Amino acid sequence: MEYDVIIIGSGLAGLTSGALLAKKSKKVLMLEQHHIVGGCATAFKRKNFNFDVSLHELDGFGNDDLKTEIFKELNIFDNIEFIKLNEFYRVKKGDLDIVLPYDIKKVKELLVKRFPNEKKGIDKFFDVIIKITQEENKIPFKRWKIYLLYPLFPLLFPRITKYQKTPYGKFIDSIIIDDTLKIILSANIGFYHDNPYELSMLYYSPAQSSYFKNGCYYIKGGGQTLSDYLANVIKDNGGEVLVKSKVEKIITEKNKVVGVKTNKEEFLAKIVIANSSIPQVVNHLIDNPPLKIKEKINRLKIGPSFFIIYLGLKKGLKELGNKNYLTFVFDKSIKKLSDLKMINDYNQKFFSITDYSQINEGKICTISTLDQLSNWENLTKNEYKKKKIELAETLLKRAEEIIPRIKDNIEVMEVATPKTMIRYTLNENGTAYGFAQIQEQAGFKRIRNKGFMKNLYFASAWSFPGGGYSGAILSGYYCYKEIIG
Ligand SMILES: Cc1cc2nc3c(=O)[nH]c(=O)nc-3n(C[C@H](O)[C@H](O)[C@H](O)COP(=O)(O)OP(=O)(O)OC[C@H]3O[C@@H](n4cnc5c(N)ncnc54)[C@H](O)[C@@H]3O)c2cc1C
Repeated sequence: MEYDVIIIGSGLAGLTSGALLAKKSKKVLMLEQHHIVGGCATAFKRKNFNFDVSLHELDGFGNDDLKTEIFKELNIFDNIEFIKLNEFYRVKKGDLDIVLPYDIKKVKELLVKRFPNEKKGIDKFFDVIIKITQEENKIPFKRWKIYLLYPLFPLLFPRITKYQKTPYGKFIDSIIIDDTLKIILSANIGFYHDNPYELSMLYYSPAQSSYFKNGCYYIKGGGQTLSDYLANVIKDNGGEVLVKSKVEKIITEKNKVVGVKTNKEEFLAKIVIANSSIPQVVNHLIDNPPLKIKEKINRLKIGPSFFIIYLGLKKGLKELGNKNYLTFVFDKSIKKLSDLKMINDYNQKFFSITDYSQINEGKICTISTLDQLSNWENLTKNEYKKKKIELAETLLKRAEEIIPRIKDNIEVMEVATPKTMIRYTLNENGTAYGFAQIQEQAGFKRIRNKGFMKNLYFASAWSFPGGGYSGAILSGYYCYKEIIG
């Protein structure tokens, strides 16, 4: 065998597993189709502006956050600077203007002051998401151990047992009455999924409680800094990282994975990790995968994608009077939690404004909203271009109602759609989150990191535990643990 491990793709999950394996003296080869590493965690340059493709906020780094251990193991804290943000997010909806801090005591005080009749529900909200997280942290890693514990589950893990079949929306409806409060607490729902009444509590709770409890960060220099660092760990430990190398086939022999083929070369390895999407593996990379598995994977629902406007500005939004790093903007027509599901009307859709000038990361801002590929299909090149500009104009006009004079200040504008995401990640539907984090596909039901064939593993937003920077990093770690044993 030429390599111990080949990794298809260089997203954060692939990079994390690759860096950890390389540090354990495994000979790693990473193959990336794009000309830079990172997948969603990349950057691009226009004029003098360096745009971060994805990162708004990273949760971390508490003692109960496994990511902290992983980052220590990879010496990340000694090599990368993390900027602690001042607050979690601001919500702007008509006259409503509220900034949520990320300290649980502070956020509870603020919300109870504003919604005194909802004190019980507010306490319960934080109590449940924190307790689910504590219980999840105690679940053994090995599946057989989970099966052994199964009869004792309700006793050992009462919150998980109670809420594993309750979607987030149903949970919050059961404890809080005020619709405005529900919208405030759910404003960043797009970090996880596009429908509160489908979102799994098992996925939502650890991530959201970590933002509230531990704090919110930005990586100095952007997501690309972390991706480049991890790729260098692979190289410094004897591995290779080849960009512009698209894997076209996974080579199998007698039901075993033995290597991969790019358009130029064939590489053999003891283990292949797919950081590329799982649907790509069963539909394109492996010839004749088990039919039942292929059918099961193709039945799973895929998560949402994004529409993003990247703006390079003459004056940063801070100079224009903006005070907040991340603002979620809701139209007056959004009245209740169920209105937060995916809607296609750009005059009503909720969106976020991220102002990087607040943290001295350039006179840059992004305006983002969840979107779906079906909005962008069957258009000619000109229709696609026109639609991009029209919808960007609509969101810009709405953003100007919150922060005046943005448009006059634009020096560079770039717009990305689900189609752009597909081009740079090859993820089906342009999703950034893999399979949707709905209760039927999250937690115990998520596709695990050990694949369906011998020597095949998964590390990506598509596999356990899921997407987001933290989810992908954990997926890379769990994949590494499966391999190392
Ligand atoms: C606009 C946007 C904003 C976001 N904001 C945040 C945020 O604020 N906080 C947060 O935590 N998360 C955020 N995310 C989500 C987060 O970035 C992703 O969930 C995560 O980075 C996905 O990592 P991944 O390892 O699954 O790989 P991906 O990023 O999906 O990368 C997969 C890689 O595999 C490569 N590849 C695929 N197929 C092949 C092949 N056949 N051969 C070779 N290479 C291949 C692709 O080119 C790509 O580089 C955001 C995402 C986007 C798009």
